[in-house]
Amino acid sequence: LSEYGYEQLVYFYDKPTGLKAITCIHNTVLGPSLGGTRFWNYATEEEATTDVLRLARGMTYKSACAGLNLGGGKSVVIGDPDELKNDIVRREAFFRAFGRFIEGLGGRYITAEDVNTTTADMAYINMETDYVCGLENKSGNPSPFTALGVYKAMRAAGEAAFGKEGGLKKRKVAVQGVGEVGKNLCKLLKADGAELYITDINAEKVEKLAKELGATAVDKDKIFDVDCDIFAPCALGGVINDETLGRLKCKVITGAANNVLLDPEKHGKAIHDKGIIYAPDYVANAGGIINVYEELHGYNEDNVRRSIEHIYDLTAEIIRTSQEKNIPTGQVADAMAEARINAIRNVNSIYLG
Ligand code: NAD
Repeated sequence: LSEYGYEQLVYFYDKPTGLKAITCIHNTVLGPSLGGTRFWNYATEEEATTDVLRLARGMTYKSACAGLNLGGGKSVVIGDPDELKNDIVRREAFFRAFGRFIEGLGGRYITAEDVNTTTADMAYINMETDYVCGLENKSGNPSPFTALGVYKAMRAAGEAAFGKEGGLKKRKVAVQGVGEVGKNLCKLLKADGAELYITDINAEKVEKLAKELGATAVDKDKIFDVDCDIFAPCALGGVINDETLGRLKCKVITGAANNVLLDPEKHGKAIHDKGIIYAPDYVANAGGIINVYEELHGYNEDNVRRSIEHIYDLTAEIIRTSQEKNIPTGQVADAMAEARINAIRNVNSIYLG
């Protein structure tokens, strides 16, 4: 915990429902920690712990860079998501028990939807605590906003690599994963005149979207070999690694997936040295958290869109600094996030009377 400055790591177990969950609060200097709840069939508690630690820290940097007054946190629920899929009675008890544990953290952590949790689960949690967002009829599904932010980051990275003329028109973009974010990103890119190459482990999704947008379907194992201008990872983390780096032919990497670089330091430097422009994942994919944050202050979609617009400027500034100082973009973004946290750290020490 001390190596990366974590504040708190909490294990929850509720015997009657079988709930096993872990919440990690990385940093609360800028505000309450906020991050989604992931439901995953982890092989061991150690694996779940590693995941929640990594994800919570990422949330601190994401919110700090996006200019939000939020800290970083995350939760993981250990178990088989399919087991509770059709058992509404058990699912309600399971997530209400989780909600009570979250309530017990007294607002230091606010949860939201993540992989394998739904708005219905958030409603169960909300029966026990107000420290939950992304509720139905409030900010709703964040994915279209995440896609918009990724698109803005890609415009900035594209301009840095290929010049301002023509935007992304005729640029070949390879999109890995056409789920909620990937498919919305593809629609924005299509409207810009980009040439799309898409893949997913779900062949049905690929076929449907390829037909709708006139995109080229690519085998899931061949996506790294596509002769493209831009690679957009919108499926999993860790996809830029020793094995894939040598295969990539792109000049730009911008996507929605968290923790795209398997080893941020090593692979961040390697792509920088190869001359590939990388829009840091947590800068590009902040549209979703910007949308959810707005829910904490009422909800106004115009405010959300204005804030997401800023992702373009932020990405451009990060790339500029990276080129001027000849350091990887991830390093620039980390320094920006840390500078904001350190600058705000002592504001609360001013006595208000
Ligand atoms: P999703 O589950 O809707 O879509 C992911 C897609 O990737 C699925 O269609 C899945 O079949 C596909 N996929 C999985 N493994 C694959 C592989 N090996 N090759 C090709 N395709 C594969 O998820 P999403 O909400 O679209 O999120 C996509 C990514 O962006 C995730 O990594 C998520 O953590 C991240 N993210 C999402 C949001 C958001 O608002 N949804 C916000 C920030 C970050």
